[in-house]
Amino acid sequence: MTRATRLVLVTLCGALIACSSSPKNPVATPPARALETEPVAARTIDWSVFDSTSIRNPNDGSLRGGVPLPVSSPGLRFNPNRDPEARYGTVEVVRALVEAAARVHRELGGLPVTVNDLSLESGGPIPHHKSHQSGRDVDVLFYQLGPDGQPIESVGAFFEPEGRGVDFRDLADPSDDVRLTIDVPRTWLFLQALIEDDDAQIQTIFVAEHLRTLLLAHARSKSVSASTISRFEAVTCQPSYPHDDHFHFRFFCAPDDIEDGCRDSPPMYPWQKTRLEAAGVRRLPLAPKRAQAAAKIVTHEEAREAAGPLDAEVERWLELRKRWIRKPHPGREYCP
Ligand SMILES: [Zn+2]
Repeated sequence: MTRATRLVLVTLCGALIACSSSPKNPVATPPARALETEPVAARTIDWSVFDSTSIRNPNDGSLRGGVPLPVSSPGLRFNPNRDPEARYGTVEVVRALVEAAARVHRELGGLPVTVNDLSLESGGPIPHHKSHQSGRDVDVLFYQLGPDGQPIESVGAFFEPEGRGVDFRDLADPSDDVRLTIDVPRTWLFLQALIEDDDAQIQTIFVAEHLRTLLLAHARSKSVSASTISRFEAVTCQPSYPHDDHFHFRFFCAPDDIEDGCRDSPPMYPWQKTRLEAAGVRRLPLAPKRAQAAAKIVTHEEAREAAGPLDAEVERWLELRKRWIRKPHPGREYCP
């Protein structure tokens, strides 16, 4: 795909997105340098050499000792189309991503998960996001299958309730469309690994309601523990921008970051309270959440203006998407 075409698609999808100090012990060790530039094997990384601190909260915060996500590790790649400056997180978050991807790679094979933006090395405001400021937010694309049912490199396509999507490529040319399916088993296993990671407590998974339903049905059909399923149910929700093309993960402050200024916002869960108590951390008042940004819906007219002519299939998908873009499932609310 040409850069120009990719930019058009990003404009189409990205326009909808409302999503979205110095180190205590500065780290300049070989592992840190290796993460900067080279593919690494997950099990060779010595995470204990890193000392990161997430400051304040994701909407108004910063990051000390930010750890770069490897450009490539077993089962994981940082999206080559994103700015590599935007791949820094806390050590807990980066380690959790690397290890979850390695588990999927080990157990189910396939192609790497594609990770989009985390935070800048020192955090703070970052292009394309309102949050992602303190090393605890990360966007991840769904694992995907191509038309032949085999794993395919993930793209930022949106997926409908049956798990189907299209990589439109040239939006005016229907002949280059690639039919995609969300790869539910690999996507679920990645989520399960993150949810079961006690050192990197996940707080929220932003995802469209219909994809939450798809993933939940899969988890219930497998021998997944009741506590993992109930945590998945608790932490997933659809924000005003529906997140039908990627996950946004948010992690709680690591216990040892709280005394250095890390602040969680709601929601707080019983298991996280227990974890903090066990770590002997005095819980502080939660930071207020910012007001929900209103969903910016791209109309056909706006899309045409941004992208030029749209083929009939793109028009059909924009129409289809209206079914889930405005409201979560009956009985469900938007993310608090
Ligand atoms: Zn995000």
